Amino acid sequence: MHDAVWLNANLATMTAHGAIVDGALAVTQGRISWSGPRSGWKDKARAEHDARGAWILPGFVDCHTHLVYAGNRAHEFELRLKGASYEDIAKAGGGIVSTVRATRAASETDLLAVAQKRLNQWLAEGTAVIEVKSGYGLDRDTELKMLRTARRLKGLTVRTTFLGAHAVPEEFKGCADAYIDYVCDEVLPAAAKEKLVDAVDAFCERIAFTRDQTARVFSAAKRLALPVKLHADQLSDLGGAALAAKYGALSADHLEHASEQGVDAMARAHTLAVLLPGAFYFLRETRLPPIAALRRANVPVALATDHNPGSSPLSSPLLAMNMACTLFHLTPDEALAGFTVNAARALGMQATHGTLETGNAADFALWEVESPAELAYAIGANPCIGIVRGGNSGQRP
Ligand SMILES: [Zn+2]
Repeated sequence: MHDAVWLNANLATMTAHGAIVDGALAVTQGRISWSGPRSGWKDKARAEHDARGAWILPGFVDCHTHLVYAGNRAHEFELRLKGASYEDIAKAGGGIVSTVRATRAASETDLLAVAQKRLNQWLAEGTAVIEVKSGYGLDRDTELKMLRTARRLKGLTVRTTFLGAHAVPEEFKGCADAYIDYVCDEVLPAAAKEKLVDAVDAFCERIAFTRDQTARVFSAAKRLALPVKLHADQLSDLGGAALAAKYGALSADHLEHASEQGVDAMARAHTLAVLLPGAFYFLRETRLPPIAALRRANVPVALATDHNPGSSPLSSPLLAMNMACTLFHLTPDEALAGFTVNAARALGMQATHGTLETGNAADFALWEVESPAELAYAIGANPCIGIVRGGNSGQRP
């Protein structure tokens, strides 16, 4: 006897089974306990739901966000529209550093309130898992405050990533190496000791940290047995993709300037690509990520919003999928995989999320669309009509 079953549903399983028209999906004790064609459903369930022809997809997984921060950077948006570049603003003390000031000043209660409110958009679009990075504290107490705040977010599963090596804070200006020592010797161990870290990230870029500095952060993560991932080759080719691969990273993210050799190294290391069309769009970048090389090398591609106040104030997985298709020429199927099965893999969560496989968490959403491709096609619509978390139906926020 199953706890509940959804009948009259179409299933986008995101597995080798593909799409199942007129399917059935059952849940028991918070897990998917049966999924397949309705004609094969012979069991019984305590509760029976009529999905009325809706499509059921696994809950979305947003595998790269900077959701927890205070303030916003609408003013810099105005400056950029008057001609300043992202790098100009960073060099003039704006950018990440201005968000750091606001985040350090905010209380944990206030940070949680604004982040929880922001999260409503993801919940309304059927998101089951969100990754949230630190990186606007750049000191021990604020980095831990951000990670604790992220862990307190309600409504979905949260994965926290330590991004102490996001930018050099003002008090370490001109002393990036000393700051990396502080991150590796003091901040990261303190965060790991409080069990606030699921993975460790860094920003390897001309305006942030060198390959050597990034490698030191990765070595510190390895000493603590924590997986790594990287902001790699976004604005220039610093060999970030190959560096991520060398350390067996879960993912290398952005990748606009990644080389073919970097992509091949990722393939050999089973490092996933995470593409972030929101930042590409918002910064009006023109260099496309190496999509053809990623396809040729069979590197799975995940997508994410990269939500952050400076370069990607994007709160919509649906819009990110549309952008990935229009800007990066992904197919709707690739975009959907990017926010489900591949995103779960990018977080090391493929055993519980990203597909409608039996045994996975019963975290899924019902969509009033004729085909799943509509989710990547429409701009600004949200046809989500039901959300199930741990087997329990809920309302869209
Ligand atoms: Zn990012």
